[in-house]
Amino acid sequence: MQTAYITHPDCLKHDMGSYHPECPQRLVAIQNQLQAMGLLSQLQHYDAPLATTEQLARVHTPDYIESIRQAAPAAGLVMLDADTAMNPFTWNAALRAAGAAVLATDMVLNEKVNNAFCAVRPPGHHAESDRAMGFCLFNNVAVGVAHAIKQYHLQQIAILDFDVHHGNGSEEIFRDNPHVLLCSTFQHPFYPYCGADSASERMINVPLPRGADGKVFRKAVTDIWLPALDQFKPEMIFVSAGFDAHRDDEMSQLQLIDEDYVWITQQIKAIANKYAHGRIVSVLEGGYDLNALGRCVAAHIRMLNSD
Ligand SMILES: [Zn+2]
Repeated sequence: MQTAYITHPDCLKHDMGSYHPECPQRLVAIQNQLQAMGLLSQLQHYDAPLATTEQLARVHTPDYIESIRQAAPAAGLVMLDADTAMNPFTWNAALRAAGAAVLATDMVLNEKVNNAFCAVRPPGHHAESDRAMGFCLFNNVAVGVAHAIKQYHLQQIAILDFDVHHGNGSEEIFRDNPHVLLCSTFQHPFYPYCGADSASERMINVPLPRGADGKVFRKAVTDIWLPALDQFKPEMIFVSAGFDAHRDDEMSQLQLIDEDYVWITQQIKAIANKYAHGRIVSVLEGGYDLNALGRCVAAHIRMLNSD
């Protein structure tokens, strides 16, 4: 069995303007790097389906879903917050991004593949149950997690979020859900200016100071994430895979390097193999330096696809 690679051309049409860092070229950079490394042909390719309203409504309010549908413009851009916009193609791209997480969940739980990577945009982890923000409309990972709980009756699911920003949306959606453990590392204080004071024992938030490097990151994961995961014993792992903590990424001031993304993927695989029959669904979040993003996603996927 291989790693599934799930994406869709609609995700390239969502465009928030020529100077916006969350740009279609991100997906092109990933695909090009996979091609250059000879990895693309080793993966199982699937088109992301459109998420259904029912699937979205497990984590978003019906009013919110409808408000996003209504906000979609016939032409030009509509701003949802200071840095999140919709063009005429965004609605479909957002449904594909969430639908990718659903398909990935089905593929992994039906043992069609070992694990899956969703190369999708818009990203998701800032999206709350009734609020778009931080480039995110629907919380793709949350939609996947809710699908695994509702459709497959899983009881213990871990979300691991190594994006440089705190996944406030995932926290808001699952804070009171006993089936979900969220482990995250993020630069703090930094956008979205929350997460440092966890309100729940299942929200394992590890704020990292500006300038922190891979050594600090690895220690946080080793000392705080891994014991929490050993205690929780997840049946399945979702990854909010953001690559904007890389030292080449101008979005943040953390100093991770390519090898740190290989390392974290190894840790995630080890936990998945130990407790979760290897089940991993990884979904793209941030990462804005196109070269670093392409390299690190490819390294992440190569590790997912290795024995
Ligand atoms: Zn981010």
